Amino acid sequence: MKRILCGVLVCLLLCGCKGQTSVQETIFAMDTVMDLQIWAGDETTAREAAEGVHALIDALAQTWSATDETSKLGIFNAGGDPGFTAGEKALLARVDSLSARTGGCFDPRLHSLIAAWGFYDRDYRIPDDAKIADALEDSGMDLGAAIKGYAGQQAALLLQDMGVDRALLNLGGNIQTFGKKPDGNPWIIGIQSPSGGGSVGTVSVTGTASVVTSGSYQRYFEHDGVRYHHILDPETGRPADSGLASVTVICRDGLTADVLSTALFVMGLDRGAALWQQSDDFEAVFILESGAVYATENAALTGCEYEVIRREK
Ligand code: AMP
Ligand code: MG
Repeated sequence: MKRILCGVLVCLLLCGCKGQTSVQETIFAMDTVMDLQIWAGDETTAREAAEGVHALIDALAQTWSATDETSKLGIFNAGGDPGFTAGEKALLARVDSLSARTGGCFDPRLHSLIAAWGFYDRDYRIPDDAKIADALEDSGMDLGAAIKGYAGQQAALLLQDMGVDRALLNLGGNIQTFGKKPDGNPWIIGIQSPSGGGSVGTVSVTGTASVVTSGSYQRYFEHDGVRYHHILDPETGRPADSGLASVTVICRDGLTADVLSTALFVMGLDRGAALWQQSDDFEAVFILESGAVYATENAALTGCEYEVIRREK
């Protein structure tokens, strides 16, 4: 993966609370723009924490990029032995078990299929049935649907170790909160309208949490008036056609949030709601292509009209 540091913007802001300094840094990593906002008791701690998070994200990208031939995942995909550490093997095992939880709708082995559609080199093309079948046979890995969420949760652990008070990280649309606001109010996170023009509504989370959105508007190409987006259904090998425009997942665990947002998008509203009903570790907001909004009962969605998805009694 290309890791371009595009103009690191560091600005120091004195926030309203006594003895607290906020550092804001914008970086380009994992092929996307990320914003890090970190509050600490002093400027040095806040600045070092921002640098630490930046380094952590770069290191994860270096290990898990599916497109960089020199990354460990790149070496693995080329048939070599990347020498995964015990921790890296444990992450891969967690990814596999989460994939099983989604009935394979999140599939970490779509590397060849993603390449066949041109989503890596942006030389977009529509593969024929034979190419799709071949690509689905291949077991090369891509963790693009999971690694930003994992990066968020790892960053939260680092911030805790570094004595940071609180942080709001926007890792290319994956939001990671850390710590409590001093006034005790929750973090308010906007959910982007899939059709553009600001947010549909907001969800609120307290303390450390991940709010991750997968949407067909995030990456796509058009051919003959048809939109082909980047979230692929492992059953068909084609862009998921589930009637959804986006899914947002709210979860304490960043990896789980990221995996589930992608999987629920593939599953669609009914299967996604059924998975939520069997679970107790996440909430979700579904936006249909029609614009209708559905939210699970504890998603704390406000600012729009929506149907509540409840647990079956
Ligand atoms: P996300 O934005 O987290 O939903 O991740 C989407 C990215 O994950 C895509 O750009 C692909 O690289 C990859 N991907 C697409 N479809 C799937 C899928 N069904 N399971 C796992 N990864 C996928
Ligand atoms: Mg995801």
